[in-house]
Amino acid sequence: MSHSNPFESPERAFETTQRSLDPSPPAEASEELRVHRPRRAAPADAVRPTRAEINLGNLRHNLRVIERAVGRVAAAPGRAAAGPEVWGVLKADAYGHGASAVARTLERAGVSGLCVALLEEGLELRAAGITLPIVVMGGYYGPQQRGLEEVLEAGLVPVLYHREQVERLAQLTRDRRERPTPFHLKVDTGMGRLGVRGADLDALFDQIVATPEVELVGLMSHLACADAPDPEPTFAQLRLFEQAKAALARRGVVPRFYHVANSAAALALPTSRYGAVRAGIALYGVSPFASREPYPVEAARSAAAELRPVMRVQSEIVALREIPNGEAIGYGHTWRANGARTIATMPIGYADGLWRALSNRGSVLVRGKRAPIAGVVSMDLTAVDVTDIAGASLGDEVVVLGAQDGPLGSDQITADEIAAIVGTIPWEIVTNISRRVPRFFREP
Ligand SMILES: *Cc1c(COP(=O)(O)O)cnc(C)c1O
Repeated sequence: MSHSNPFESPERAFETTQRSLDPSPPAEASEELRVHRPRRAAPADAVRPTRAEINLGNLRHNLRVIERAVGRVAAAPGRAAAGPEVWGVLKADAYGHGASAVARTLERAGVSGLCVALLEEGLELRAAGITLPIVVMGGYYGPQQRGLEEVLEAGLVPVLYHREQVERLAQLTRDRRERPTPFHLKVDTGMGRLGVRGADLDALFDQIVATPEVELVGLMSHLACADAPDPEPTFAQLRLFEQAKAALARRGVVPRFYHVANSAAALALPTSRYGAVRAGIALYGVSPFASREPYPVEAARSAAAELRPVMRVQSEIVALREIPNGEAIGYGHTWRANGARTIATMPIGYADGLWRALSNRGSVLVRGKRAPIAGVVSMDLTAVDVTDIAGASLGDEVVVLGAQDGPLGSDQITADEIAAIVGTIPWEIVTNISRRVPRFFREP
């Protein structure tokens, strides 16, 4: 028998699955990494017509929008680069967009550095061949700081904020390096989660000055309210940051980078930009400013308006039925036909990141026009009322996030719109698209 039926040969089926889910396991790295790489569906696995399209052209466009907004000028023959560096924030699998492909695209587009939250996220990027500086912002290296060894081996730059971490880094450096190890120090100026706080700053600064094995290359902080219309809490944080900067300077330490700005601050507040900004959500084409309360800084609003969404999530109509008046749809019978209706079923549900809170409230796009979700979003399937979508047919594309042009018009469903309906922020909308949905990378 030449053609193989995987069900007849369990081993073979397993092999095939392993290979197709993990198309390029890093040969040397995979034995050493104690962190398993999360398995994500790859385009080759896609049988179901549900997918996320990642538009890498839009990603590059958004990088340029941010660079322009912060006054970054790239180096050119005879001219050095000027203005703040833009660092791409790629934590959480690049906000659900696929970290390696996003990193590769940004690297080629000339981004100066990348930031991740976790050590394992940094390792994933190194395994993908990314050579840019990568800052591990989360500052968690395990209860005994063992992860710092891996940070060093992978050439990542750690963020530290307490004395034992500095000691540990110095000790590792003595054991295995000839040059001081670069690191960033995080100062808590008002987020209240991580970072050295005012009262402990002097002692930590003294320790750093007295530890020649480590080199402070960046002083950083994180802003709590930069996306809100009132800038005062942000200015208060920046004042505390300036005090920390001055306390360092009094000891003769001037790190290469000061960085505090996230997307919102980078676009809106020039005094937050320093030598580098850490852009996350704006890179992915989502405005950091909620559209419901217009942000007061005009320049920031217009930069945000130029951003183009990078992720688009789509599925297809796989079933169509005529429902008579009074009949119900879905779990709990929460939707009931008011007159004769046409119902389309699409194979996407809350396990894919389509929020169950969109039940009977959200809409999707079919043939370029909005159609309401009918009944509850279930784990794998969602029903849509397409009675008003003339010509809706089996196989029609259904867009749940992003834009669609069709015979009936053009429209888009933004992460901001979904966030408003389900009561969250657009960051959670994009990171919530689950790994069951394969990412297809588009190079326009
Ligand atoms: C996530 C994160 C950012 C990026 O924030 P956006 O609002 O998505 O631009 C910047 N800095 C730190 C420390 C972060 O954790």
